[in-house]
Amino acid sequence: MPSFAAIPDRVQPMSPEDAERLANVRPGGWRRPKPLSVYQLVVIGAGPAGLVAARAAAALGAHVALIERHQLGGDCLNDGCIPSKSLIRTGRLLADMRDATNFGAVPPAERVFDFRAAMLRMRRITARISRTDSAMNLAREGIHVFFGTARFTSASTVDVDGMPLCFKKALIATGSRSMLPDVPGLAEAGFLTNETVFDLQVLPKSLLVIGGGPLGCELAQVFARFGSRTLISHREPLFLPLEERDAAQMVSDALARDGVEIHLNSTATKVWMEGDQRVVELVNDGNTATTRVDHILTGIGRVPAVQGLNLEAAGVAYDAANGVHVDDFLRTSNPRIFAAGDVCLQHRYTNTAEASARIVVRNALFLGRRRMSALTIPWCTYTDPEVAHVGLHVKQARQRRIPVKTFTIPMHDVDRAIADSEENGFVKIHVREGSDKILGATIVARHAGEMINSVSLAMVAGIGLRALANVVQAYPTQGAAIKQAADACVRTRLTPTLFKLARWWLLR
Ligand SMILES: Cc1cc2nc3c(=O)[nH]c(=O)nc-3n(C[C@H](O)[C@H](O)[C@H](O)COP(=O)(O)OP(=O)(O)OC[C@H]3O[C@@H](n4cnc5c(N)ncnc54)[C@H](O)[C@@H]3O)c2cc1C
Repeated sequence: MPSFAAIPDRVQPMSPEDAERLANVRPGGWRRPKPLSVYQLVVIGAGPAGLVAARAAAALGAHVALIERHQLGGDCLNDGCIPSKSLIRTGRLLADMRDATNFGAVPPAERVFDFRAAMLRMRRITARISRTDSAMNLAREGIHVFFGTARFTSASTVDVDGMPLCFKKALIATGSRSMLPDVPGLAEAGFLTNETVFDLQVLPKSLLVIGGGPLGCELAQVFARFGSRTLISHREPLFLPLEERDAAQMVSDALARDGVEIHLNSTATKVWMEGDQRVVELVNDGNTATTRVDHILTGIGRVPAVQGLNLEAAGVAYDAANGVHVDDFLRTSNPRIFAAGDVCLQHRYTNTAEASARIVVRNALFLGRRRMSALTIPWCTYTDPEVAHVGLHVKQARQRRIPVKTFTIPMHDVDRAIADSEENGFVKIHVREGSDKILGATIVARHAGEMINSVSLAMVAGIGLRALANVVQAYPTQGAAIKQAADACVRTRLTPTLFKLARWWLLR
């Protein structure tokens, strides 16, 4: 059985940047507010879901208590999106420098990369973004911020390290934790997770990443670009299990180009120490090989953080694998208690956590009937090229017996992608056959995360693919690939009869 990573005690500042972040997200000497007799909303967990809900409810006049056991901002700010994207940017610069001659520039004579400076930049960025979600700001917005571990004591009360709080409504937004592979010897040898990798002081000479999901692929590429000998092992035949095969293959090719040693269909079966190196046994199709690395980073997935909440006392149904059970309105089995974000949803992304929190505020406090299933939520893996998706995959559409027609534009047919030497990738838009209703899209491109938003916009606004052909875009842009797909869709309207008619009209 996989187990859970322990949260490291990172309250000791490592740099002035860290000190600034901590002063915002976990200020020393924070004075607990005097609790009200009852809160309209008690929010447990101050990650993206909890913060959005607390702020929206307080802005509408509700009395809100927000409980956080670790650091405001949750995984996204402190151990996830922001630190990883900051390092990814450095990795991208290094990849561009490697490719300098292609652009007519002279590549640096020797490798010039300062890991500590890159990590400091990441800390500066995280500290800067932490200002928005600082405890002081939240208090100014009228939110009662309590630092401590929340535990339900009844259907309408929660305890924060000995202090009872009563609520009319509560939101469980406790997020998720790293899942750890059950590999003999791994715990004894020591390993990194997203909760510790951003604290590295020295660039590892070698790194094995276990797990080829978004986190594993993003960080494997980053460390390879930084100059670590990087290996990635993944149980399945392709990375990114949520993505279409051709997209996942492109990521695999990109990692290989960056020098990542790829071990697909491969399982780590044993770890032990030799000197200060970790030796890992990897099994692939019955063949056993060993490899030595400085560090092991695990990224095999996430598990909902439900431990210790005493959900039984509150009558909230849950299980360890899927987290808190919610209906489409995000209500739990206790009608006073709702859940949002990673703790209850299959798609574990910041935008999903925030969108679900907004639904909870409406449904819990204003008798709203917003449904989670009504949302259209894109996501993106920030490898280079990025892989972004929205809506249905072809396979899902077929399972639902929806006939699909797909329009694909390779990025090497897009003028701006050619000009930028960023030709790896494609835009694929799926419509319901016989119409132009957009069912979903996958984009693999250097800026796929930016590009997917216009497809999402069209889907949410109910705009068909053909209508996108009428949008005059700035030229040249990589987003033109979407318009080119729309143009291809328009051309399918030209049936042989219409063509004959047009020809007759023109040549009459
Ligand atoms: C390395 C990495 C990179 C990522 N990159 C992206 C990305 O690029 N884009 C994207 O959309 N998503 C990304 N994600 C996912 C994103 O971080 C999560 O989906 C998001 O943070 C979930 O928000 P949340 O509010 O549900 O939970 P969390 O952010 O996990 O916050 C939950 C909070 O609850 C607190 N808590 C837990 N239990 C208790 C308790 N009993 N009492 C009090 N407090 C408690 C925790 O300390 C935590 O602060 C990434 C994740 C990782 C790990």
